[in-house]
Amino acid sequence: MLAELGDDAKLLAGGQSLIPLMKLRFANPSHLVDLNFVSGTSYINEDNGTLRFGALTRHAEIESSAVAGKIPILHDCAAGIADVQVRNRGTIGGSLAEADPSGDWATVLFTLAVDVRCIGTNGKRTVSVSDFIKDAYTTDLAQGELVSEVAVKIPPKGSGGAYLAFKRSAPVYPTASAAVQLTMSGDVCQDAAIALGCVGLIPIRVKDAESVMRGQPLSEKTIASAMEAARNAADPQSDMRGSAEYKRTLVGALVKRAIDIAVRRARGEQVEATHIYA
Ligand SMILES: Cc1cc2nc3c(=O)[nH]c(=O)nc-3n(C[C@H](O)[C@H](O)[C@H](O)COP(=O)(O)OP(=O)(O)OC[C@H]3O[C@@H](n4cnc5c(N)ncnc54)[C@H](O)[C@@H]3O)c2cc1C
Repeated sequence: MLAELGDDAKLLAGGQSLIPLMKLRFANPSHLVDLNFVSGTSYINEDNGTLRFGALTRHAEIESSAVAGKIPILHDCAAGIADVQVRNRGTIGGSLAEADPSGDWATVLFTLAVDVRCIGTNGKRTVSVSDFIKDAYTTDLAQGELVSEVAVKIPPKGSGGAYLAFKRSAPVYPTASAAVQLTMSGDVCQDAAIALGCVGLIPIRVKDAESVMRGQPLSEKTIASAMEAARNAADPQSDMRGSAEYKRTLVGALVKRAIDIAVRRARGEQVEATHIYA
């Protein structure tokens, strides 16, 4: 149908980004192709060390899934998106396809090994999530192509992650967010991935923080260097959510707290991570 209808057609998933844009007349498609009638598009499976999410899987389904809970940072993300109404409708595939600079999923998925599976009239293909998100509201999807699945590799033993966002209230996007995924061997950090959300046009990987931490015990000094690297990597805009300087300070603090939770989870502790409200 997408190929037949051309540029004037838009896919409808949960409608939690598209419908508000249509109400504001920022989007005005002549046709909506409703994915909700396509069977087999919503599922959560574990398959040979990988968690597979059908594109139409709702945030709320991921929040309550024991299988998804095997990667705790996914639960942090799903449980913190907006309010229950939005989580009951919004989908992981729709979030990635929207590529909103303030969206939560891409930031979290940037810290994991993630393939986005796409399907179109030219067949199927797989692209890494970091290659999928091209720019604000811009993805690698071709005309007539859609996201069919998001495949997340389960991190190795000794891994832990955490996602924290700072928000003014539940039904708004975060002011800033930080995702941290670590692999620990005793007190030494074997591997680290850190991504910042809402402080750039796309999620920002903080490579300098990751290299400071890799191969080191996570002493106060190392964590302070990671925070500094996060503040430097952020590229925020001043807006109604806060000044650029405020957001820079905020991401440093979020990274510190997320590292703390990630380390404890890597040790096997059950730690609840919830978004922080102003
Ligand atoms: C009040 C409110 C607060 C919100 N707060 C947050 C928040 O804090 N954090 C956050 O991350 N999000 C937030 N959202 C957005 C929400 O997470 C959306 O669910 C999500 O951004 C889009 O998913 P959807 O399934 O609703 O997509 P839709 O709105 O149906 O579609 C979004 C776009 O993606 C395209 N699309 C949808 N599915 C596919 C697919 N499978 N393949 C290709 N293209 C596709 C559509 O054509 C459209 O262009 C909020 C939304 C609202 C209304």
